[in-house]
Amino acid sequence: MSSRDYSSGHHFLQIPGPTNVPDRVLRAMDHPTIDHRGPAFAELGKRCLDGMKTIFKTNTHVIIYPASGTGAWEAALVNLLSEGDTVLMVETGHFASLWQKMATKLGIKTEFLKTDWRRGVDPQAVEDRLREDKTGTIRAVCVVHNETSTGSRSRIGNVRKAMDAADHAALLMVDTISSLASIDYQHDAWGVDVTISGSQKGLMLPPGLSFNALSERAVTESKTGGIKRSYWDWQDQIAANASGAFPFTPATNLLYGLAEAIDMLHEEGLDNVFARHDRHAEATRRAVQAWGLEVLCQEPKDYSSSLTAVLLPNGYDADVLRTTILQHFDMSLGNGLSRLAGKVFRIGHLGDFNDLMLMGTLSGVEMGLSLAGIPHQPGGCATAMNFLSETASLKTNA
Ligand SMILES: *Cc1c(COP(=O)(O)O)cnc(C)c1O
Repeated sequence: MSSRDYSSGHHFLQIPGPTNVPDRVLRAMDHPTIDHRGPAFAELGKRCLDGMKTIFKTNTHVIIYPASGTGAWEAALVNLLSEGDTVLMVETGHFASLWQKMATKLGIKTEFLKTDWRRGVDPQAVEDRLREDKTGTIRAVCVVHNETSTGSRSRIGNVRKAMDAADHAALLMVDTISSLASIDYQHDAWGVDVTISGSQKGLMLPPGLSFNALSERAVTESKTGGIKRSYWDWQDQIAANASGAFPFTPATNLLYGLAEAIDMLHEEGLDNVFARHDRHAEATRRAVQAWGLEVLCQEPKDYSSSLTAVLLPNGYDADVLRTTILQHFDMSLGNGLSRLAGKVFRIGHLGDFNDLMLMGTLSGVEMGLSLAGIPHQPGGCATAMNFLSETASLKTNA
């Protein structure tokens, strides 16, 4: 390795997932793998299964898979839907589009409500479509809580209300992969049937675990419904989970980390965790506006608190900016996905994060904008600093 390959200090991993893994989680995972059928494991399994219920805010059941979030998407679909069923999805961005493609591959028919990729789900559009569906053809409504490609959040409680207002019996499935443990989420109170999530974003773990939180209705309907499946079957999981076990070898060391992360979230307090994310998102948007750049999300009530997607002026390449920042300041930022490629960059401000990490991140962006020759006003960092110092006393741990 030449001296130019070595970077001193911490790399800044400011993509919207995977996020920075805190030392406490790394240390918790740094233990020998134990017998997953022994008594010590059962205790760990229960801690994780029960602990995740408090994060999803549910009293029903949480399934934990050794898989990326995409696996948990598939599990949600195959446990409840049949080939030929119709689902209603909303094209909020790249991730909603991937989920729609998966459903199509599984033989599920999809109706895809379009958006301009600059806002969350419009609950009224869902209500209007469901009202037209007099024969109850639509079996499920599948939406993404926080669209990671655009930085737009959808109001799931209002989507539920829209479904109730239309008096429609569809199941509700929600992807919270980039919102869980960053933005308030209430599986039971919002009447969600399946919530999907992953380990590597707000939960502050490495990639490798994903989750389904279930409703009683989902548990019951999966007993007789769904597509042929084996690995993803919820019933096998539920049976094994009763004693804290799993039907096959679990990702034991990731579960050590998960138990620690759940403890950390409760030590801080979930409401404080959400307020911290809101405050860092607001500081970031103020910096972007002061630079004279545009936040991609155009609907203030839909602003994401876990990431901000920033639109560059026409004719400037966001990937050149990202490469410049990586080369000079050892910071990774999120790229523009599919139709947003080269047009936006994304600042992740979720997970294990604090005020000075945010200022380091924004400083890297401001210096990068200058180095890459992107037209902007100076002063974004100063604006963010003012906001952070003015609101510092609002932090409960100050
Ligand atoms: C990251 C992400 C995914 C994909 O998860 P994988 O773990 O990469 O499979 C899906 N949906 C959303 C909203 C995401 O942010």
